[in-house]
Amino acid sequence: MPELDRLKSDIDELVPDMVATRRDLHEHPELAFEEIRTSNIVAQRLRALGLEVQSGVAKTGVVGLLRGGTGKDGGKTIAIRADMDALPIHELTEIEYRSQVDGKMHACGHDGHTTILLAVADILTKRKEQLSGNVKFVFQPAEEIVGGAAPMVREGAMEGVDGVIGLHLISDYAFGRVGVRSGPIFASADRLILTVRGKGGHAAMPETTVDPIVISSYIVTALQTLISRETSPFSPAVITIARITAGTAFNIIPETAEMHGTMRSFTVEHREKLLRRIRELATGIAGAMGGSCDVELIAGCPPCVNDVAMTELVHNAAVAAVGEQRVDSGEEVLSTGSDDMAEFLNAVPGCYFIVGVNNPEKGAKYPHHHPRFNIDEDALPIGVEVLTRAAMDFLT
Ligand SMILES: [Zn+2]
Ligand SMILES: [Zn+2]
Repeated sequence: MPELDRLKSDIDELVPDMVATRRDLHEHPELAFEEIRTSNIVAQRLRALGLEVQSGVAKTGVVGLLRGGTGKDGGKTIAIRADMDALPIHELTEIEYRSQVDGKMHACGHDGHTTILLAVADILTKRKEQLSGNVKFVFQPAEEIVGGAAPMVREGAMEGVDGVIGLHLISDYAFGRVGVRSGPIFASADRLILTVRGKGGHAAMPETTVDPIVISSYIVTALQTLISRETSPFSPAVITIARITAGTAFNIIPETAEMHGTMRSFTVEHREKLLRRIRELATGIAGAMGGSCDVELIAGCPPCVNDVAMTELVHNAAVAAVGEQRVDSGEEVLSTGSDDMAEFLNAVPGCYFIVGVNNPEKGAKYPHHHPRFNIDEDALPIGVEVLTRAAMDFLT
C-alpha cells in the first residue's frame, strides 16, 4: 500500500477510539487550571505510547516527547499544541454524551483538540523510525482565561523547539474545509477598565456637580472614533465597552462611573497604538470636563501571527489531506477572537490554522461558547491528518 493510503487507513482505524475519547472528555469538562482528570488521561496515554512525559507543567499542562531518528540535519524538533479546558456554561444540547457536570461544558471544541493530538501522538509514534527529529506534544491548560500558554513557555515547553503548529476547530466554518494563512490570524485581546471620577450631588442642581455619567457617555462615543477615524479601513480592530455601572437613584448624580470593555487588533504595533490612544482620549476628555479617569489596561494576549515557511508546510499538508479546493487562505480564515497559542507563536516560528466543524444536519451550527455548541466529529480525522503530515514533512 502506498504511504499516502497507509496514513489515511491508519487514521481511519483510530476513528472509533477518537470518538469515544472525545465523548468521554465532553462528558467530563474541567475548567481552566482544574484539568486534573483530563491531564491524567493525556499523561497516561502518552506514557503508554512510550513517550517521555512531563506533567504538572503550568499546573495542569502535559508535555510528551517523542524521539525520532536523528536524521540528516541533526534532528529538529516540532511542537504540536492542543488546549484542554472547558467553560463555565450549562450545556443545553440533547446529545447522549452531554456534560455530566452542572455549569461546565466543552463549548469551544477543546475536547476535540485534545483528542486529535492524542491520535497524532499515536500515529507518529508508529512512524518514529521515519522521523529525522523529535516531536513535542504540548497539552496546555487554561486557554479560555488566557492563562495557560505563557507559563508553559516560561517553564520551558518551547525549549529546543524549532517550529510549532496547532489547530482550532471552528463552528461557523464548513465541515471538510481547512483554513490557513500567513501573518495575523487571531486577534490580540486586552481588557479595559475605565473609572471616571466626578463630583456627586443633587440631580436637580447639576451645576454644583461633575457628572461622571455624561463624561462616560462622551468617552464611549469618542473611543469609537479610534476605529472609524484613526484606523485604516484595511486594518481590522474592535473596541467594545460592554458594561457600564454608575448611580443609585434617579435624583442623585453619582461620584463615579465604571466601564469595562475589550480591545482587539491584529498587529503588535496597532495594539500598542490603540492602547495608548484609549488612555489619552479617556483621560483627556474626563480632564477637560472637570473630572478624571483612571485607565486600567489588563494585557490579555497578543495576536496569533503565522510564520511564512511554517504556513507553507501546513498549507501543503492541508492540500494533501482535503484537496486544494477545500483549503482557504482568504479573509474567512481571520477571526477577531483571540487565542493564547499566540504565546507559543511568539516563542518560535509556527502556524495556527482552522478546521471546519459546521454541519447543521448534525446540529453543529451554534457559535463557540453557546450552550448548544457541538462539532461534526468527522472533522477529527481531518485535523489528525493535517497535523501528522505537517510534522512528518518538517522532520523529513
Ligand atoms: Zn473558547
Ligand atoms: Zn477555543
